Amino acid sequence: MQKKPFITKEQVEQITKTYPTPFHLYSEQGIRKNASDLKKAFSWNKGFKEYFAVKACPNPYILKIFQEYGFGTDCSSMTELMMSDALGFKGEDIMFSSNDTPAKEFKAAAKISATINLDDFTHIECLEKTLGHLPETLSLRFNPGGVFKMSNGIMDNPGDAKYGFTEQQLFEGYRILKEKGVKKFGIHSFLASNTVTNEYYPKLAGILCDIAVRLKEEVGVELSFINLSGGIGIPYRPEQEPNDIFAISRGVKKVFEEKLEPAGLGDMALYMESGRFMTGPYGCLVTQVLHLKHTYKEYVGCDACAVNLMRPAMYGAYHHITVLGKEDEECSFKYDVTGSLCENNDKFAIDRMLPEIKPGDYLVIHDTGAHGFAMGYNYNGKLKSSELLLKEDGQVQMIRRAETPRDYFATFDFSDVLDNVDYDLENL
Ligand SMILES: *Cc1c(COP(=O)(O)O)cnc(C)c1O
Repeated sequence: MQKKPFITKEQVEQITKTYPTPFHLYSEQGIRKNASDLKKAFSWNKGFKEYFAVKACPNPYILKIFQEYGFGTDCSSMTELMMSDALGFKGEDIMFSSNDTPAKEFKAAAKISATINLDDFTHIECLEKTLGHLPETLSLRFNPGGVFKMSNGIMDNPGDAKYGFTEQQLFEGYRILKEKGVKKFGIHSFLASNTVTNEYYPKLAGILCDIAVRLKEEVGVELSFINLSGGIGIPYRPEQEPNDIFAISRGVKKVFEEKLEPAGLGDMALYMESGRFMTGPYGCLVTQVLHLKHTYKEYVGCDACAVNLMRPAMYGAYHHITVLGKEDEECSFKYDVTGSLCENNDKFAIDRMLPEIKPGDYLVIHDTGAHGFAMGYNYNGKLKSSELLLKEDGQVQMIRRAETPRDYFATFDFSDVLDNVDYDLENL
């Protein structure tokens, strides 16, 4: 199967007249279509809400698009809470699913009435001490431990993950919350990442529904929402079959009907905190080839590097690459596609079969719309790129400018020195 970029060589040549490479480009059309499908798919659940995982693509323009669909945000830190608040997301629109949480972040979340999702048993006491009381609504994060397996071979190891309460802690936790006057309860769990199967959410929903029924019977706590969190994946590889959000939704609906309705919990709201699935395929990194190097292998050196996209270096993640204008040429050349960091894992691809590449060619690195720009860093003094939005009308809007050396130096008490150096700092 071919993986087609959502832009052409001609479009990129046009864009680079104004915005130099490298840049991340997002497709508004793709993001909207997907958001609208998600909303449609889960419309059977009255309380359904997607809380977009801000960390996947922390850009206000993207969050504003999701706001139009009635989605909220899922925050993991102080700045993400601030961004959500500043954009007009209200208390019930904000989920705070953090871990190893500093007290001041609990305070900030409570101040804007975000729903706090506690990661650990000890955080109940910590939160109560920090606020002087517990909030009316609280959610707890469950980790069943062991190994989580699905019939199609996908598995993950919750037992090795740092997140969540054990089952025993969870039941004890809800007992304490009830005793301390919490009024509204939720449960959250995240057991497998980037699942490319329609089976994950239904299976997770089954586990959490069973807990909900037992909580009602054994503890007298009625949950108001089940939060399936993130984990719906995308097909990074061309041969992978994408998830079908409608099939996923039907699977969850069936589980809700079978398990919750007989227990008198039929009004349960379904929440999710999808990130990757929401923006991943609708962003790409566009980079220009600077050099070809021939030593023991063939290297393509481009003007982006791992600071622009860390996933290949960090996890050995596959990102498909298209050489613009050569979409239909045979992939008969084997390359390592690299950036310029002094770090040998700075490779977007290793031994990748591609058409013959020449300096000046533009490469599209696919599926960088989630956990792409967001994971950026400044190693080797590299600067973060711009982010551009390809709007539905075909216009391109810059939604974040590229960093300049002045940004890089801004955290030193160094600014007057910069004024004395003989560089055009905004324009290197
Ligand atoms: C990262 C994260 C998400 C989003 O995960 P995706 O795999 O991008 O969907 C949601 N919730 C929490 C708590 C997370 O840490």
